[in-house]
Amino acid sequence: MISAKQYQKKIILKYKKTTRKKGYRTEKNFYPFRQLIACVYCKKNMWIAPSTGARPYLYARCGTKRCERSKKSIRIKVVLDYLYSFFSEGLNFSEHEYRKYLEKIKVILEKKHEELQRQCLNKQGVLNQLTHEINERSLKIIHIEEDSPIYRANEKKILELQAEASSLENDIKKNKI
Ligand SMILES: [Zn+2]
Repeated sequence: MISAKQYQKKIILKYKKTTRKKGYRTEKNFYPFRQLIACVYCKKNMWIAPSTGARPYLYARCGTKRCERSKKSIRIKVVLDYLYSFFSEGLNFSEHEYRKYLEKIKVILEKKHEELQRQCLNKQGVLNQLTHEINERSLKIIHIEEDSPIYRANEKKILELQAEASSLENDIKKNKI
């Protein structure tokens, strides 16, 4: 049995091959899980597509306008992890047990989403502070003589802060998907 992560890699590779060959996304493209994943909230089928970026993840997305789902998309990996844990407990689920399990998963996913949002907010706070410090230092540095040790130290610090800020920005972007 392959792990959820390996499987995800495999399907993304397959997806990439299909899109590259055709040059554009058509109905005929390979979408694993298409019409197999329904939104827990509105019960409609979810869209399946990979995210853009250097390392794409496969996502299921709810396209229902009035759906009360707070986070519109979910990584397929999360669905796979759920399935793996579901089946690892055997196949003797009654419908009632299955529903209970589904409710539990719903709560877990909501919590996970909240946690991610909280992390995002924290990071945004740190980023704001960093941006403020970068601005302050940049304003001060113009009054310092170039090539002086203080100037160089400040310049170095500004570059470090900028690198830190851009890595935070990336983190925030990733979590917002
Ligand atoms: Zn929905």
